[in-house]
Parts: sequence; C-alpha cells; structure tokens
Amino acid sequence: MASRILLWFRTDLRLHDHAPLCRAIAHQPSYLVPLYCIDPRQFSTTYFGFAKTGAFRAQFLLESLADLRQTLRHLGSDLVVRQGKPEDVVPQLVADLQIDAVYYHREATAEETRVETALNRALQPLGVDVKPDWGHTLYHPDDLPFDVTQTPDVFTQFRKQVERESGVNPPLPAPTRLPPLPAELLSAVGELPTLTALGLDAPTPDARAGMRWMGGETAGKARVQDYLWESDRLKVYKATRNGMLHPDDSSKFSAWLALGCLSPRYIHAQVQAYETQRIQNDSTYWLVFELLWRDYFRFICAQHGTRVFQPDGLQGISIPWQQDWARFDLWRAGQTGFPLVDANLRELAATGYMSNRGRQNVASFLTKNLGIDWRMGAEWFESLLIDYDVCSNYGNWNYTAGVGNDARGFRFFNILKQSKDYDPQGEYVKHWLPELAQVPTPKVHQPWLLNSAEQQRFGVVLGVDYPHPVVDLFKSAEASERAYNAAMGYQPQRSSSGHAKPRRKRTR
Ligand SMILES: Cc1cc2nc3c(=O)[nH]c(=O)nc-3n(C[C@H](O)[C@H](O)[C@H](O)COP(=O)(O)OP(=O)(O)OC[C@H]3O[C@@H](n4cnc5c(N)ncnc54)[C@H](O)[C@@H]3O)c2cc1C
Repeated sequence: MASRILLWFRTDLRLHDHAPLCRAIAHQPSYLVPLYCIDPRQFSTTYFGFAKTGAFRAQFLLESLADLRQTLRHLGSDLVVRQGKPEDVVPQLVADLQIDAVYYHREATAEETRVETALNRALQPLGVDVKPDWGHTLYHPDDLPFDVTQTPDVFTQFRKQVERESGVNPPLPAPTRLPPLPAELLSAVGELPTLTALGLDAPTPDARAGMRWMGGETAGKARVQDYLWESDRLKVYKATRNGMLHPDDSSKFSAWLALGCLSPRYIHAQVQAYETQRIQNDSTYWLVFELLWRDYFRFICAQHGTRVFQPDGLQGISIPWQQDWARFDLWRAGQTGFPLVDANLRELAATGYMSNRGRQNVASFLTKNLGIDWRMGAEWFESLLIDYDVCSNYGNWNYTAGVGNDARGFRFFNILKQSKDYDPQGEYVKHWLPELAQVPTPKVHQPWLLNSAEQQRFGVVLGVDYPHPVVDLFKSAEASERAYNAAMGYQPQRSSSGHAKPRRKRTR
C-alpha cells in the first residue's frame, strides 16, 4: 500500500469532485504531498508573440492557489508550490521524499499531454506508481456511448447520443481531513510568486467592468450560490445569456471552470437541486446544454490531437489566411469602426472577459471580414481571457473560422444585425466606447452614417474621435466566401447581380 502519495494539481484547483484526491486518500497514505508547479512555459510568449498567460488570468491563478492552500491547511495539509517544469520538479520530489505514487488529472491537448509524457518518462526509472484520471467534463469518457476517438463530428449528434444513452455522475465529496505533509516539507512549502515575479504588471481595475472576479474554489462556489440561489437568475438564463452588459446576464462560471476551481458535475448537481427546489424550465436545461458544448470541445480535442491548432483546422480547409498586422492591431485595439466589434475588444483588453455573443462576433469579423489568420485571434484570446480554456478557445475559433469539423458552408455574422438584435438601444457600445455616448440610438451602430453637422453636434468626428469602418462589411464577406469556396473546390453561388452572396445567418 502506497504510504507517500504526491498529488499534482493542474487545472483542477479544487477539493470537491476531485477523483485523484479521492483515490489517493482511499489508500490511507501516511503522507500526502499536494503540489502545484508554476511552469515557466505558461509565462512565455505565444507563437505570434503575446504573453501566453496575461495578467488577468495570472492574477486569477494566484488567487486560486492561495485559496487552495488555505483550504488544504484547514484540513491538516498544505499546498507545496514549486517553480519549474513538472517533469523536472515531480521526479525530484519523488526521489527526495521516497514517494510511492503520483496522482493527477489528465489533459486533452498537445502541450499538456507532452508534459504528461515527459513526466511519465522521467518517473519510470524511479519505479513509482503513476495514476492519471479524467475529471474536466460532465460526462466521463468511460460513460460515453462511443469511444472518444469516435466522437461525432456534429455537436447535435453528440448531444443527442449522450443525453439518450449516458448519464452524469454525481460529484465526488470533498475530504474533511487530509494526511499531513512529510516532515521534510513542513518548512519548505514554497511561497506563491507575485505577478511581478512572473514578469507581469497587476491589471488596473476598470470601473466599467460588470463582474468582479476572484479566483479559487471558495469564490467559485459563492458565485454558484449567488447566481442560482440568491439572485435566482438561473430561471431566466436562456433569455438573458446573450446579454453583454450585466454580470448576471450569464453565469460567469467560465473562469472557475477553466482552472478547475469548479467542477462541471458540481454545477450539474446544483442545477438538479434548483430544478427540484425552485423551477425546471428551458433555462435550467440550457445551462447544462452549454456545459455540453464545453464537454464536446474537450472530447474533440482529445480525438484530433494537434489538428485543432493548425491553420486549416479540424477539417483541413486551406483558406489563404492573411497575417495582416496593421489590421489585426486595429482589431485588437477596438479601432475597426464597427462599434459592436470595438466595444467587445475594448472590454476584453480592460477586463479579461467578453461575452459569448461578443466572442462570436469579433471572431467572425476577424476571419470573415478581415480574412486574418484565426490563430492570431485565438492567441490574443489565450493571452487575455480570464477564462481561457484551451479546448473551448481553439474549438470555438475553429468553429467560427469555418474550419471546424462540423463546418457547413460559409457562414458569417452580420455585425449590423447582431448589433441591433443584441444591443438595440446601443447601451453596451456606449458603455465601452465613450466617444459614441452622445450618438442617438438609430446611428450608434453605424456612426459612418452621421453627416458632418451631426458629427460636430454629437462630438464624434469620424477619423478623429472614432475610426471610419476598416472594411465594407458585405464586400469583405463576399471576398472571404470566394476564398472559402475556392479552398473547398466549390463553384461560387451567383446572385442575379453576379456577386457571390454570403449567407448572413448564424444559429446559436
Ligand atoms: C471564439 C470563442 C472563444 C472562446 N474561448 C473560450 C475560452 O477560452 N474559455 C471558455 O470557457 N469559453 C470560451 N468560449 C465559450 C464562451 O464564450 C464562454 O464559455 C462564455 O462566454 C463564458 O461566460 P459564462 O460562464 O457566463 O457562460 P454561460 O453562458 O453562463 O455558460 C455556462 C458555461 O458553459 C460553457 N460554455 C458556454 N458557451 C460555451 C461555448 N460556446 N463553448 C464551450 N463552452 C461553453 C462555459 O463553461 C460556461 O461557463 C469561447 C467562445 C468563442 C466564440
């Protein structure tokens, strides 16, 4: 029986519903070493040169680690923190402390699985037991009605099959007491680094931010308590989830899910309790439906290896993407001249968050109107998002760029229609674009329609206070559709005017 177990925490910074932890303590080890490695690779730069982990997420991570440490201390343990690559740190600790077994959660994507492979290789000569587990999804792969390698290409098929033929297990309980650390570690648990030590400046809080994020399992559970039980917002989730302005428009569970401070099965169990005690309706179903998208992207990533990161995506469509930095810089600075796009990108830069509606629109605009390499957008999101999750991010970017495995012809978001549907009074764009504050609602989404007298009157001179549109929305989409059709080997569909007509409607 293993008497010394090392538990390697990764994106699973919680004690509830933690299979490796439960399995470890079931062995009644004499000592347990909960470990987190601050991996320098996570604080390097991406391929296109952005900080891989920007300040918003780094801060959320440090808060989550502090909370985990606090919880572990309450239970008689502690969090050991080391700076270094797990494949170096873990074997060293295993050797120094005579560890018998190493437990951890498996990941699905290339960088993360490479670390696992390197770790396993380094541990092999030490003769230690290695026990990986799966724990990031609602549905466990063993309970899927198909092998992960056979995950359906179309989300609806996936959803229907799992809903019909599988079930979500209840979350595992959190322990109430933990084995101690080995004596050698008691005075050497390691300090949490500061943001400065990680090479980052603390983000400046922006008074316009709707949501106040705080990392950690404690704050994550408090958000669930608040969103479901105190504010009672779950019952209207389906109607409000596309809102962009108010913190309770959607659950905001994403950042805690991404770092594993919340488990999706915990949320599922809370939704079930809410359905029993309050109400069961379309909204309660829809939150679980969205969590299924999260599962889907993780299984797709596990199925397809590195393809999700390739420019031609899961489907292998060779679209001639541009790496046009001048236009990309306008996009990321929120200076495209399309208020909905600009407001969302400025919100992201100021807060580290953007709504799902916003993400879909800015991603469609980057790829279908600017024709820019979707990976530049994905990496910008990776750097800035407080809730960055490799599978959800790259899966959604594949999907929006039209190179995902379920691509169904050329589709793009009509930004103007989206603006009017989801921000009819222009409140959202005015919130993030103060230069448009005086513009009357009918023109706030199309400031280029303001004549010069109106520009003077409303204090927004185009080209001075706010940019002219960087492209023609429909002509640029038509050009992208032609490129897409050529890549697919299609004959373009001709309209009566002789122009290829992009379809303007997106579902979801
Ligand atoms: C281009 C693009 C990139 C994205 N990148 C990420 C990312 O890095 N991390 C991330 O968590 N989500 C990502 N999403 C999905 C989605 O935008 C966020 O999960 C959502 O906005 C988070 O806010 P919320 O928690 O209030 O969502 P809610 O609407 O309350 O949804 C509840 C939960 O369901 C899951 N979810 C909802 N929509 C999606 C979706 N489309 N795909 C996968 N899971 C979903 C999330 O875990 C979310 O927390 C991305 C979407 C797009 C279009």
